[in-house]
Amino acid sequence: MSALASFANEPVLELRRAAVRSGLSDALEQLERRLPMSVPVAVAGDLRTGEELVSTDPGAPDRILAHAPLATEADVIAAVSAAREGSDAWGRTGVAERGEALRRAAAWMRERRLELAALQVRECAKPWPEADADVCEAIDFLEYYARGAVTLDAGREVLQVTGERNELRYVPRGVVAVISPWNFPLAIPCGMTAAALATGNAAILKPAEQSPGSAAMLYQALRAGDVPAAAISLLPGGGDAGAALVRHPGVHTIAFTGSLPVGLEIVRSAGDTGPEQRHIKRVVAELGGKNCVIVDSDADLDEAVPAIVSSAFVYAGQKCSAASRVLVHEAIADQLSERIAGAVRVLVVGQASELGTEVPPVIEESARERVNRYAEIAAAEGRIVARREPVPAVGWFCPPTVVADLPAGSRVLAEEIFGPLLAIERVRDVEQACDVIDELRFGLTGGLFARDPTTVEYVRRRTPVGNLYVNRGITGAMVGRQPFGGNRLSGTGSKAGGPDYLMHFVEPRAVTENTMRHGLVV
Ligand code: NAD
Repeated sequence: MSALASFANEPVLELRRAAVRSGLSDALEQLERRLPMSVPVAVAGDLRTGEELVSTDPGAPDRILAHAPLATEADVIAAVSAAREGSDAWGRTGVAERGEALRRAAAWMRERRLELAALQVRECAKPWPEADADVCEAIDFLEYYARGAVTLDAGREVLQVTGERNELRYVPRGVVAVISPWNFPLAIPCGMTAAALATGNAAILKPAEQSPGSAAMLYQALRAGDVPAAAISLLPGGGDAGAALVRHPGVHTIAFTGSLPVGLEIVRSAGDTGPEQRHIKRVVAELGGKNCVIVDSDADLDEAVPAIVSSAFVYAGQKCSAASRVLVHEAIADQLSERIAGAVRVLVVGQASELGTEVPPVIEESARERVNRYAEIAAAEGRIVARREPVPAVGWFCPPTVVADLPAGSRVLAEEIFGPLLAIERVRDVEQACDVIDELRFGLTGGLFARDPTTVEYVRRRTPVGNLYVNRGITGAMVGRQPFGGNRLSGTGSKAGGPDYLMHFVEPRAVTENTMRHGLVV
């Protein structure tokens, strides 16, 4: 039986139950009493605190969530040197023992689910259902990769012939730099770090500057699970700390999730091989998207409308998988636009801590400026179909907006906006919709609403996206069920939460032994 057979996704909370809801408010109150958190630079167990980096609540920018030092170049050098040593010992630890440590970290998180979710509600303005799902996903990654590493450790079957014994096994690559974004502040750094550790590497985590608090909880969970201090370091800081890690010749693998420009910069920098370096760095990059939903003329609009609206606007459109374009068959375009507009006008915009909130504020002031700039371009070049206004005055709120009739060359249709702005476009047929998608540089997620199985098959064949969802929303990939990751400029096709992901963190070794030599007993 495969080790994965015993894996099951962590069940989300039943938020409709009064007892669960009162647990959430208690968790929030307790968290607020402890604020601000102090997040350290942690290198081989040595902790250094500081106050240069501050994370704040996007819904109440005066509320400080965490203070942290900004990791320096010297911290990066110390962390890589500790990780080099740490990776040797951790790599020699048996795969089962490493997996046990990760599963203890998962248990630690399970016991603190509400606290971890409450932190995301405040630090990243993630509404409760999304925050809870993020914590569940983090637990899933720990459990899934702990099991997956056992399967990988057994090696692969290769052909055997008389007179030789052949073996193909996988060994850890060494030091992994994990560089993560803020929008899944626990799940994404946890997934990349867990994969690195499960396969016997040492990990150095450089989390997003907006969410050091959640990253510190991940660090604590791993240490509580008995991952040795030398195998995991935490470097809160900005892009310069990430860039210093990427440049360091002692780093073997860079696991990065974030935006396209930063991803491309990392790929370029990692390609430089200085004289002291005896390996080629591997970059695992999971980047942005421009995700389209095709709606054919026979689609069930009762299904399509709520799925599109939630894919575009939940968490204010700040998921890499979020819908940003709808390509609708001209025969039903007016009807669909009208219904989407109606649904958007009644979206609940509010603080993430309010249970009914669908659209919280965006992460920071510069994000609000960016989204508003795109909304202005959309209004100038196209027709605003719906805008949910007013929005609360305190917090980085952007009004959820739907635009139609944009010209084909509009930036709004090509660039990742990462906010609550959805464009609707009419197409002649599904074939034209596929042509439009084929023009895009991104290839992350996509959706199709259609009843005819031949249409589903046609789109399946033509789509370049990494994750296609048929007759359902296009966000919410589950570990083990929807291996997640994009193609084209959306990433290196690494498929987090899938059976191939761990391969990025190991290198293969084939050994062939001559079994016919004199004196060998087989
Ligand atoms: P970002 O690219 O701005 O930052 C990501 C991380 O990179 C942060 O830790 C940041 O400090 C670091 N960084 C910045 N400059 C760097 C440099 N020069 N070298 C090394 N590290 C550097 O992204 P973000 O705003 O945190 O996250 C949002 C982006 O992430 C969106 O584009 C979204 O689509 C993408 N994303 C993709 C996925 C996926 O699975 N494909 C998942 C979540 C988010």
